[in-house]
Amino acid sequence: MSDSEFLCVRCARHMRTCCQTSEVYVTPGDVERIARHAGRDDFHEFRPPVRAEYAPDDFDLPWRERVFRSDGTRRVLKRRPEGDCTFLGPAGCTLPLDVRPLACRIYPFDYSAEGLKQELAPGCPLELLRNGQSLLGALEMNADDARRWHRQLYDEIALEPPRDRTGKEKPAGRATEQETATPAKSALPQLVPATVGK
Ligand code: SF4
Ligand code: SF4
Repeated sequence: MSDSEFLCVRCARHMRTCCQTSEVYVTPGDVERIARHAGRDDFHEFRPPVRAEYAPDDFDLPWRERVFRSDGTRRVLKRRPEGDCTFLGPAGCTLPLDVRPLACRIYPFDYSAEGLKQELAPGCPLELLRNGQSLLGALEMNADDARRWHRQLYDEIALEPPRDRTGKEKPAGRATEQETATPAKSALPQLVPATVGK
């Protein structure tokens, strides 16, 4: 095993990765970018959360009021029968970074509508880090990129129709509760244990 081997490669030998376990919400912008790149639009569907950590909560109002529909479903990437993401290939994600869903790009940063949290989301195998290596260093990630993608994610969530607490669509032009305070949300999923994309 090489010292320079990428953490995600070691992770894939060690356990089921985030790309094999996550329920990845995709924004309208994600769908457009991926469809343009892939030349197809059959990679997403509306499904209710399977894992509890993906359920809507009161701590991220834009997520609850925009992402989820009245039937409790939200737009997610399709997965193969064994759980793998439809875009997972033998060498990892088959989408270029600037086409990947925003939720995938941000992981393992944890966040609420207000911004990135101090603590990273759980899921990555910290036990596989080399001596002195940080998780973000091993993943070659930085907070500036994550903040930019986070802003874009919530800008694109705002393109979803607003809904009230029951999931019904609100009349056009009505603000969501989001514009009022949004308390910090606790631990993500996001690729919980390796849970990409809430
Ligand atoms: S991001 Fe984390 S959980 Fe996902 S493959 Fe890489 S090391 Fe594993
Ligand atoms: S789209 Fe996201 S979950 Fe799917 S393979 Fe790429 S990084 Fe993994």
